[in-house]
Amino acid sequence: MARTRVVLNFPAALVEKPVTYHLVRDFGLVVNILRAEIRPGEAGTLLFELDDRDGQGDLQGGLEFVAREGVRIQTISGRITIDQDACLDCGACIGPCFAGALALDPTSYKLLFDDTRCVLCKVCVEACPAGAIKVAF
Ligand code: SF4
Ligand code: SF4
Repeated sequence: MARTRVVLNFPAALVEKPVTYHLVRDFGLVVNILRAEIRPGEAGTLLFELDDRDGQGDLQGGLEFVAREGVRIQTISGRITIDQDACLDCGACIGPCFAGALALDPTSYKLLFDDTRCVLCKVCVEACPAGAIKVAF
C-alpha cells in the first residue's frame, strides 16, 4: 500500500479545476482532504492524503497529472515529534502554527498535537524556546 501526504498550491486560474475528481476517477486513488483553503478567483492550498488502495490505484500517475495541470506539489515527508519531558506547555508554538495542529487542552493546559493537520512547515520548531519540537524522518 502506498500512501502519501501532499500540499497542492493552486494558482488563481486553476482553483476551480476538479483535480480531486480526476484523482479518484482516473487514477483510482482514495483522496482524504485534511485541510483546504480555497476561494474562487484566488490562489488556494489543499492538504491531501492520497492512498492507492493496495496498489489498485496509480499514485505516481496521479501526482504527475496534477503537476501537468500546473498545480505545484509539495510532498510531505517526515513528521513532527514533541518531547513531552522537555515541553513546558507554554503555548509559544500554537500561534505560529497556521495549520491549527497545535493547541492547549482547555482542562489540563497540556499541549495537544494533531498530526493530521500538520503540514510540516517547521515554524513551530523555531518558535519553541525549549527545543522540544523536532522533525523525525
Ligand atoms: S510543522 Fe507547521 S503545521 Fe506542523 S505543527 Fe509545526 S507549525 Fe504546525
Ligand atoms: S513552544 Fe515548546 S515548550 Fe512551549 S508548548 Fe510548544 S512544544 Fe511545549
